[in-house]
Amino acid sequence: LPRIYQGEDFWCQGYSEPGSGSDLASLKTRAVRQGDHYVVTGQKIWTTQAHFADWIFCLVRTDASRDKRQEGISFLLIDMRSPGITVRPIILMDGGHDVNEVFFDDVAVPVENLVHEEHKGWTVAKYLLGYERMGTGRVGQSKRELATLKALAARQLKDGQPLIEDPRFRDRLTRVEVELMALEITNLRFLDQLRGGRPPGAEVSLLKIKGTEIQQAIGELMMQAAGPFAQAFRPVDNMDFDHFTARLAARYCNMRKVTIYAGSNEIQRNIIAKATLGL
Ligand SMILES: Cc1cc2nc3c(=O)[nH]c(=O)nc-3n(C[C@H](O)[C@H](O)[C@H](O)COP(=O)(O)OP(=O)(O)OC[C@H]3O[C@@H](n4cnc5c(N)ncnc54)[C@H](O)[C@@H]3O)c2cc1C
Repeated sequence: LPRIYQGEDFWCQGYSEPGSGSDLASLKTRAVRQGDHYVVTGQKIWTTQAHFADWIFCLVRTDASRDKRQEGISFLLIDMRSPGITVRPIILMDGGHDVNEVFFDDVAVPVENLVHEEHKGWTVAKYLLGYERMGTGRVGQSKRELATLKALAARQLKDGQPLIEDPRFRDRLTRVEVELMALEITNLRFLDQLRGGRPPGAEVSLLKIKGTEIQQAIGELMMQAAGPFAQAFRPVDNMDFDHFTARLAARYCNMRKVTIYAGSNEIQRNIIAKATLGL
């Protein structure tokens, strides 16, 4: 833990596999116990920053015979320098390299790298996902982006007037700002629960849904504010170019991911319906 805290060890998360994203319990990467090692074989996908990671925490199938699929899964910590690991980049629609495929070809993992009990990894993953979803709300980032949006709308002109004075634009902007304030207060309520020793439960999914919808809404308003200047992907030489607006289209494309990662927003709604509302 101190090495993580000091930024000396960088970790990535190996849950999703081709065909096992929303239906994570169907995952197939196998770990077979052989003496004091597990031998891991399979593939992970969408692994964020795996190309920089020193370690990966992985969900692996240790027992395929269980009726309840969640009960045959274990949680392993794997050194990314282990022989048999290959990382292959996936380039996203904005041209960026954030995510990867990770292949495990008979990778030997010491048994002491098992977290919690064998076959009980699902419990560990669920606990961690609660914390991840708290983070995906990203209130601080959205507040900074909102300030940037306001500055942009103040310098863009519509019919000779700053766009920010246009009633229709103001209406849309204000709605997002109010939602963000409500999200911040809700986030603080969850943090207070955490401080009281209660880990995030299923209801934390609402932070993920609202937070990511707000992030996308701010991005869309930025595109509207920039108008045609939002379309260029990169500045053209010798043109009087606004470098901020020139990056907006790529950013807009990149932001499609936020309602997918950490469990898609549709899945979060299912979780709330089942675990919180009892539907
Ligand atoms: C940028 C990015 C980074 C990521 N980083 C990581 C990472 O570091 N580690 C990791 O393990 N994973 C990571 N993921 C994977 C992410 O968790 C999965 O993409 C996500 O869980 C969705 O799974 P899927 O892509 O297989 O889509 P699918 O599960 O195939 O879903 C496709 C669509 O169907 C919908 N859907 C599926 N099932 C249902 C249902 N029961 N009810 C209603 N709608 C449903 C989904 O909402 C989605 O819209 C990342 C993904 C992205 C895009």
